Amino acid sequence: MGWMQRLFGGTDDAAPPPPPVAAEVAPVPAVADDDQDEADALLRQHAKRAIVLRPRRADSPLPVRASKFGGMPNLAGLDAWPVCPNCAEPLVFVLQLYAADFPAAWFPADTDFCRVFRCVAADCDGAGPQYDAVTLLSFLHVGDAEPVEPDAESFAADADDDVRECALAPIAIDELPLDDAPPELRAELLTTVPPSEWDALVAMWSPDGSSKLGGFPGWIQGGCVPVCTCGAEMGFFLQLASQEIDPEGEFSEAPGTWSSHGLMLGDVGTLYFFVCPECSPTAVQSVFECS
Ligand SMILES: [Zn+2]
Ligand SMILES: [Zn+2]
Repeated sequence: MGWMQRLFGGTDDAAPPPPPVAAEVAPVPAVADDDQDEADALLRQHAKRAIVLRPRRADSPLPVRASKFGGMPNLAGLDAWPVCPNCAEPLVFVLQLYAADFPAAWFPADTDFCRVFRCVAADCDGAGPQYDAVTLLSFLHVGDAEPVEPDAESFAADADDDVRECALAPIAIDELPLDDAPPELRAELLTTVPPSEWDALVAMWSPDGSSKLGGFPGWIQGGCVPVCTCGAEMGFFLQLASQEIDPEGEFSEAPGTWSSHGLMLGDVGTLYFFVCPECSPTAVQSVFECS
């Protein structure tokens, strides 16, 4: 599929097919088909696949073994409900993801499950200068093991602070931040893409700002990728957003609210988690940005 088709309402693997268009009203491409194919091949060569999570409020409690925001987590690998390493207050469960539910996503070697907990204690000052609050991502291998349910006492947390339980309706999209693309790539693209179409092309391929796995960070402030203590550039793994907007432009909740899950990171901020591809899955760093 050419980029012109994507731009003007083409099909997408995960999107419903568009209504048939009569031949006489089909848009006339601004560039020749050959050029479209050439530009498309070039874009795909440099693009990365992102899985946009698209949380949707659950009507009833979801299974413990489910990829989801909020609700009852699988506490596999933990002896008890986790507490903040800084203030020792119980953490709030944010989300958990099973690799099996996202075959296109990369997980660190020997892991198939990840979980995020967050400290919401008002007087916790454990966050670094980049963070809005202590928010911890961890990886685990759970295989086919039965999930470990928290006991009723520890799960009965403060409902006001809880992340609302949401099922996920993920879709895969391809992303490429063209404004930050190497000059050679831009120059090559501009040999086939008319300058008048450039801004639309940038917008179409720009990294999504919603919660997602992989792809490119949807920076709010144009942050940079952290470097691991081993010297390797870290790999972008997960983005957690306060405001969820579908790639199709739909809000995941009624207009006037930010998201289905109700997670507010700083002032409508976004957290970006990176994992070192060379070190163990505990080599995780996060970057926080808000507008
Ligand atoms: Zn804390
Ligand atoms: Zn490393």
